[in-house]
Amino acid sequence: HTGINFEKYDNIPVKATGDDVPKPITTFDEADLEPLLLENIKLSGYTVPTPVQKWSISFGTAGRDMMACAQTGSGKTGGFLFPILNELFRTGPAEAPVAEGRGMYRQRKAYPVALILSPTRELTSQIYEEARKFCYRSWVRPCVVYGGADIGSQLRQIERGCDLLVATPGRLVDLIERARISLRNIRYLVLDEADRMLDMGFEPQIRRIVEQEDMPGVQDRYTLMFSATFPRDIQMLASDFLKNYIFLSVGRVGS
Ligand code: ADP
Ligand code: MG
Repeated sequence: HTGINFEKYDNIPVKATGDDVPKPITTFDEADLEPLLLENIKLSGYTVPTPVQKWSISFGTAGRDMMACAQTGSGKTGGFLFPILNELFRTGPAEAPVAEGRGMYRQRKAYPVALILSPTRELTSQIYEEARKFCYRSWVRPCVVYGGADIGSQLRQIERGCDLLVATPGRLVDLIERARISLRNIRYLVLDEADRMLDMGFEPQIRRIVEQEDMPGVQDRYTLMFSATFPRDIQMLASDFLKNYIFLSVGRVGS
C-alpha cells in the first residue's frame, strides 16, 4: 500500500505561478535523471511520478526555488528528495573541509550539503527512511536527528558521515551550539510541513538556523518549502528564504 491514489490525481487541479515556469516532466524515464537515482526510484516501487514530483523535478533541473502547497499523501518527500539527489549524484561529493583544532582537540564536526527541516520525530524518521532508499549505493550518507531521544547515538551516526541531514529544528540548534554540525557547506535546504513547524512554535529556531552566519545565503543555496496552507507567516518565511520562487499549488489549498 503506497497511500497514493493516482486516479484521484488525474482530476486534481495543479497551478504553478512565477516567472518563466519550466514545464513539468511527464515520466521518470523521460526526466533525464541520473541513472543511479532512476534505478533507486524504481527499486522503491515508484513507477509514475505524482504531480508534485513532476513539477519539482523540472524546477530542480532549472535551479528554481519553490514554495509548494499540497496535501498529505501527494508525494512531497520525493518532491524534494528527487531534485536534490539528482543534483548531488550529478555533481559528486564536495572536497572535505579541514577539521578545526588539533590532536585530541580536533573537532568531529559534520558538514552536510543538504538539510531538511521537519516538525516531528515521526516525520523526520519517515523522510530519513525514504532518503535511505533513494541514496542506496550512492556517495550520499543520510542522517536523522530529533529531540526527545538520546543524543549520543545521534552524535555517533553523524560522526560516521553526514551529507544529507533530516532534522527537527530544536535538536539541530542544540547540535549547532555543541559545534557538532556546521551549515557552511549547505547547498540544499528544505522546510517540510512549514505551517506545522510554525504552529509548534519553531519559528525562532528555524530563523536561527537559516539566518546563521555559516549558512549560505538565499542566492548561494537551493531552497524548497512545503506547506499544507499558505497563511501570512508562511508567506513571510517564503519571501525571506526563497529567491524568485515558483508557487505550486496542488489541489484545494486553504490559507
Ligand atoms: P506527503 O509528504 O505529501 O504526505 P509522501 O511523500 O509521504 O507524501 O508519500 C506518501 C506515500 O506515497 C508514501 O508511502 C510514499 O512512499 C508513496 N509515494 C510517494 N510518491 C510515490 C510515487 N511516485 N509512486 C508510488 N508511491 C509513492
Ligand atoms: Mg510529508
